[in-house]
Amino acid sequence: MIDWNKNLATTVQHTKQSGIRRFFDIASTMEDVISLGIGEPDFVTPWTIRESCIYGLERGYTAYTSNKGLYELRHAITHMYERDFQVKYNPNDEVLITVGVSEAVDLAMRAILNPNDEILIPEPCYVSYAACATLVGAKAIAVPTKSENEFKVTPEDLEKHITPKTKALLIGYPNNPTGTILEYDELLAIANFAQKHNLIVISDEIYGDLTYGERKHICFSALPDMKERSIILNGFSKAYAMTGWRLGYALAPKPVIDAMNKIHQYTMICAPITAQIAGLEAIRNGQKHMKKMVAEYDRRRRLIYEGFTSMGLKCFEPKGAFYIFPDISSTGLSSEEFAEQLLLRQHVAVVPGTAFGECGKGFIRASYATSVDNISGALARIKNFLDNL
Ligand code: PLP
Repeated sequence: MIDWNKNLATTVQHTKQSGIRRFFDIASTMEDVISLGIGEPDFVTPWTIRESCIYGLERGYTAYTSNKGLYELRHAITHMYERDFQVKYNPNDEVLITVGVSEAVDLAMRAILNPNDEILIPEPCYVSYAACATLVGAKAIAVPTKSENEFKVTPEDLEKHITPKTKALLIGYPNNPTGTILEYDELLAIANFAQKHNLIVISDEIYGDLTYGERKHICFSALPDMKERSIILNGFSKAYAMTGWRLGYALAPKPVIDAMNKIHQYTMICAPITAQIAGLEAIRNGQKHMKKMVAEYDRRRRLIYEGFTSMGLKCFEPKGAFYIFPDISSTGLSSEEFAEQLLLRQHVAVVPGTAFGECGKGFIRASYATSVDNISGALARIKNFLDNL
């Protein structure tokens, strides 16, 4: 008899279960649930993108691509970065097409971290970062950020956690779960910090296209002297409503891309050709569709922000992604209690802030990647919930 408790890899045993799953499991057994819990677009991928894939299949494009991905796609990506951020990457050896940003996060960690190396991860943040670091045997060092500073990480926050073992820093702005973005000066301060401590910076910019108002996204490697130490991760899931296609990419100096590709060639071989063809169409002709979706998210963002503030829950206005992070501490309930009771009593699903790190205590994450009707309905139910506490 094998005792599986003793035979599973210790790295896996040390990896925490995602705190989001439990609520979806409860919600899936209930009827009439309005979900503000899900972090994925409610749109279908724009038709021109779907059609390009169908056309590709008709023409017989069904084989592996090169490990790094279709050259045309890599070229389109580097062209887009030069156009939008004035940062130049070589499509031959500074880009890798991956199976979503998820694979890119994993590969980036595996390419640079040795067991016991430390990587600074500002929290609250996306749930996979610490897990991927733990899975390579490295130490994910949680860096708490402050709600009064809209959870923006500062060099002072980071400085407290630097040790001789710190090798890298992972940032993700626009942020999941808070919707925070960093202004140019704030990014520059992080860049100076990275330079001072000679850190590699992994920047997950998957929500880069989802920013609202005047402020356009700033790519971290476009900051002075940052390209040589940055690994930029991005993908198609959020901006083009392509979560199920599984397509992302990494932009980084050649030695990093070579290292990532060394792993990717054995584990994935390549991203699906169907998705790569679709991704190319997304960049070529999908931007106007993406902008329409962003305008719709913006409308919903204002509605949900107004809704939460008018019922007395403190929250700052999200500037990017499609999440809002209200402070529920005034209710006297913990994040988990709030999420669970709201789900059971009013059939509204949200995620407790603690799923994204300890400093999410007293907060919940609500996603506005759902219809205006759903948002209005959920807000009315949340108001009811608060009135009856
Ligand atoms: N990074 C962040 C910040 C995310 O929120 C998500 C998905 O929710 C991902 C990465 C994973 O994206 P992908 O679908 O490209 O794997």
